[in-house]
Amino acid sequence: MREPRFDVLFDPVQIGPVTARNRFFQVPHCNGMGHRDPSAHAAMRGVKAEGGWAVVCTEEVEIHYSTDVAPYVEGRIWDDADIPAHARLVDRVHEHGALAGLELVHSGMIASNLWVRQPPMGPANLPVPSTDPVQARRMDADDIADLRRWHRQAVARGLRAGYDLVYVYAAHGLTTIQHFLSRRYNDRDDAYGGSIENRVRLLREILEDTLEEVDGRAAVACRICVDELVGEEGLERAEIERVFAMVGELPDLWDLMVGEWDFDSITSRFADEGAQEAYVRGIKALTSKPVVGVGRFTSPDTMVRMVRDGVLDLIGAARPSIADPFLPKKIEEGRWQDIRECIGCNICVTGDSTKVPLRCTQNPSMGEEWRRGWHPERIRPKASDARVLVVGGGPAGLEAAQALGKRGYEVLLAEASGELGGRVVKEARLPGLAAWIRVLDYRKGQLERLPNVELGFDSPLTAQEILEYGFEHVAVATGSRWRADGVGRWHVKPLPFYPGMQLLTPDDLMAGERPRGRRVVLYDDDHYYMGGVLAELLAREGHEVTIVTPEGRVSEWTVNTMEQHRIQRRLLEMGVTVVTAQTVVGAGAGHAQVSCVYTEREQELACDALVLVTARLPQDGIYLELKQLVADSSTAMRVRAVGDAWSPGTIAAAVWDGHRYAEELDGPDEFDTPPFRREVVELAPDELPVS
Ligand code: ADP
Ligand code: SF4
Repeated sequence: MREPRFDVLFDPVQIGPVTARNRFFQVPHCNGMGHRDPSAHAAMRGVKAEGGWAVVCTEEVEIHYSTDVAPYVEGRIWDDADIPAHARLVDRVHEHGALAGLELVHSGMIASNLWVRQPPMGPANLPVPSTDPVQARRMDADDIADLRRWHRQAVARGLRAGYDLVYVYAAHGLTTIQHFLSRRYNDRDDAYGGSIENRVRLLREILEDTLEEVDGRAAVACRICVDELVGEEGLERAEIERVFAMVGELPDLWDLMVGEWDFDSITSRFADEGAQEAYVRGIKALTSKPVVGVGRFTSPDTMVRMVRDGVLDLIGAARPSIADPFLPKKIEEGRWQDIRECIGCNICVTGDSTKVPLRCTQNPSMGEEWRRGWHPERIRPKASDARVLVVGGGPAGLEAAQALGKRGYEVLLAEASGELGGRVVKEARLPGLAAWIRVLDYRKGQLERLPNVELGFDSPLTAQEILEYGFEHVAVATGSRWRADGVGRWHVKPLPFYPGMQLLTPDDLMAGERPRGRRVVLYDDDHYYMGGVLAELLAREGHEVTIVTPEGRVSEWTVNTMEQHRIQRRLLEMGVTVVTAQTVVGAGAGHAQVSCVYTEREQELACDALVLVTARLPQDGIYLELKQLVADSSTAMRVRAVGDAWSPGTIAAAVWDGHRYAEELDGPDEFDTPPFRREVVELAPDELPVS
């Protein structure tokens, strides 16, 4: 049973004409599936509803074909043809007693309209924020009338799909309504520009249109940015208070957000749980309507405090609901220790930025609910009495062992060292990555409750020993090691390093080794977090650090996790020298040799140590040897390498692979066709329009 101190989280909340069964509110979030993978999307939202969320929302859904954010894959409700996909999502959500929310968007000057090929429009003549060669057209009175009509039509379609709650969206810097509201974008001198009374006009009109259109059949929510975090140039608290004085009583619910998406979903490397509280506090007092807000909330005590302190009425969550769709149920059932807490890595966000279905470091079933039938809490029972040996207790081994344990297999997890966690334990000790230890915490907690999984420590197994143990299945999850020879993306052959230079890899640094001298060159040809994090570590420890990257920015791939600008700023502020578009080509006593990636002009950078963050090699020796031993013997042992030992990648990829191993054990071995479902486009009649 749940603990009484959490009771308040299960109070029903009236939202206009509808009632949320508790305070858990899955705010709209992108997912990389949208209009392209509607059944997968519907299933994912359905699992959230099953997990106890009272309200489950879509991502932003384009109201009209003239607001097209392609190549990003968001929702669409352009015309009636889009309704069945939405109805499916609504059905999945309703099946489990939750309310379904629709976030309508007119992206205006954010959308490049690459797919529809017509110019976007907004309050001003301004280029779109991407580098696409596209400018938004300034809207006139007719355009504003069009926009209001389109929004209303989209609301009507949303109601026909069955939604219980419809959003008017003025947040994240992503919508025309916000662009009109903010002096940052609105330079108009008509009735829609100038004073805040004028700038709020479009928001008021669309709220009134929406209320009239829904006519009590659904709730109307308004998502609003309460501080654009750009000072006087944009929306800030004083103006927002005036906005609430004018329209605070119009919608049935306020959804409060701060800054742009990169602050709304700030990574744990740069902010703790509840970072938005300082900006959101006090807004609730400006309206009698309920308010929802986010904060990467995973602690039920923090959630209770938000409600008790009068900061929020509903606990909003995107990432915590991705990492654990069953978070509300677990609190309700007194199992809050079982929550798979979000680690704040933003791998989920990369689904949107790389335009593929979202994945999650903590929750390998995310995005696989419909495709592969994976579920965050349920897994099919074992198909045999086979015993499984998992070699290595990193993310892949841990996930495989706990998922196999839940299937009911007898499992031995053998770890060479004295502790579980593998790379996660080491990486969580690096600056800003402490929350990543949750990858271990959750799995360790699960393993402790599985009597059929035995743990063995200090057991660095050899292939011969494994063969002799005679398990029916062996998963080799022995991880990977960073290379020390310069091979990576830029150099595919080892580099000529000369004696006299201390070479270090991330593994060396994580094992405690340090540069002997003060000056360090860190060569990052990996481009995710490791290079930037190690530069930070060494700078903090007093080294004079130069980070060299062949890319144009440090930690280039972290644009996808929305951290790149923060990483580069932090490094620059710490005094790290950033050298871009250069690659290390060699090193000798007292210097590293670098070369311009365009001109190949070389120069020497004076240093005492060179840190190489390039590529990794799988630690697959045991796997290869064991495979050979099995082939040479008469045993029926089945051997597979999983995680980084199979192919080095992200922690998310290792967890996913460990999970896949567990899901597929005793299933078919060969897949000549995709072992997952996909939605294939239905062909339209093969006729060209008559011109
Ligand atoms: P992954 O990300 O794929 O899970 P990690 O590198 O995080 O990989 O973890 C690999 C784990 O395997 C480490 O904890 C390591 O100590 C362990 N390991 C490596 N070789 C052996 C071995 N021969 N026997 C048992 N454990 C091993
Ligand atoms: Fe949280 Fe990372 Fe999962 Fe996103 S991918 S929900 S940030 S654990």
